[in-house]
Amino acid sequence: MTPADLKALVRTIPDFPKKGIQFRDITTLLGNGRGFAASVEWLADEVRGAEAIAGMEARGFIFGAAVSARLGLPFLPIRKSGKLPCQVIGVDYELEYGLDRLEMDPQSVSDGQQVAIVDDLLATGGTALAATALLRKAGARVSRAAFVIGLPDLGGSKRLADEAVDVRALME
Ligand code: 5GP
Repeated sequence: MTPADLKALVRTIPDFPKKGIQFRDITTLLGNGRGFAASVEWLADEVRGAEAIAGMEARGFIFGAAVSARLGLPFLPIRKSGKLPCQVIGVDYELEYGLDRLEMDPQSVSDGQQVAIVDDLLATGGTALAATALLRKAGARVSRAAFVIGLPDLGGSKRLADEAVDVRALME
């Protein structure tokens, strides 16, 4: 499958979750077995060399966990606030309206471990930057992030590059 074939599997839903937003819906890509497998293969190639994969709740779990299993690497779930049962470290970050928080188990990372971030979509980069800060707080090195979809006009790629994170996106 070519990147154009994969792009054709993403559905655009207008005015979700609110008016004026064109939501890129990856559930139609997941619903195509060959398309999902090809996307995971592409993401895995882009993060090969990492020692662990981190994915953000919730859609980052779908692709991140599949990439981890594909490469035989540990998967680090980065969760929304209050979900992990263990002691956690957290990072607050700004959304368009208000604040959100990501948390992880600091013991899931060893000092200096090279961790790559995987998520479905990069927009402003706020989520991926918060995940980077959190992983670094836990002692990881983060230098690569791979996404199924990148929205270049929203500046996420540039913001991550400023934090020394190299961004790859399967489609724009
Ligand atoms: P950012 O923090 O880069 O502005 O937004 C990216 C985060 O929001 C990702 O975790 C992604 O799952 C979610 N997100 C924002 N917009 C969309 C969208 O149009 N489609 C999908 N599938 N996820 C989105």
